[in-house]
Amino acid sequence: MVAAILLSGLAMTLIVGVRYLIASGGFALATRLRQPGLYRGQGRQIGREIGWSLASAAIYGIPAGVVAWGWQARGWTRIYEDVGRYPLWYLPVSVLLYLAAHDTWFYWTHRWMHAPRLFRIAHAVHHASRPPTAWAAMSFHPWEALTGAVVIPALVFLIPIHVGALGVVLSIMTIMGVSNHMGWEMFPRWMVRGPIGRWLITASHHQRHHEQYRCNYGLYFRVWDRLCGTDRGLGDFGRDLRKEQA
Ligand SMILES: [Zn+2]
Ligand SMILES: [Zn+2]
Repeated sequence: MVAAILLSGLAMTLIVGVRYLIASGGFALATRLRQPGLYRGQGRQIGREIGWSLASAAIYGIPAGVVAWGWQARGWTRIYEDVGRYPLWYLPVSVLLYLAAHDTWFYWTHRWMHAPRLFRIAHAVHHASRPPTAWAAMSFHPWEALTGAVVIPALVFLIPIHVGALGVVLSIMTIMGVSNHMGWEMFPRWMVRGPIGRWLITASHHQRHHEQYRCNYGLYFRVWDRLCGTDRGLGDFGRDLRKEQA
């Protein structure tokens, strides 16, 4: 049994690590094509980002592996496979519930980690990326990675979700985590600057967090930032212009 749990933790670590390398590598390649030279001179920073991210893969992978083992071997969790078990409308609702719960947890723990002492201990690693690149998606100190690692493994015990919908949640988590750090906006202007962008977080919003620190703490939605007065609007990637001029 112990061996099976260890194996599951190891397998999940590998999956999270490989998923990171593929997603960040893919967006880094897109950056090279769309914004050539954007990461020029950041080679050493990227090396650190990859190192911290791979350490985070183990921290995310181990609890996920234990829960995955319990799901398969012991019937833990409220993950279901029979799509007819709940009404079909529940599929998108469950995805939204997961994103909203994760966003809420992230907003408050993130804001908390900006308190000076905790910032130094846990969150400074993430902000050492100045500006971040597509490789910074999981560039967290182990303490911070731990606060993120418990979210989905805890939610699967609380909120029923179809295994496919869980896959959608994890994909959104990965894609947004990477693209929010890559240093340019991939979504069309009408979306980011229009009514949708007033509530959804994309790279333009998170960029401003990395520039100004004490604002724009959210993960997927701007709801908490707006409610708590910490939303300072969208960044404009001014450094792109500076680099072009240099
Ligand atoms: Zn960030
Ligand atoms: Zn921060």
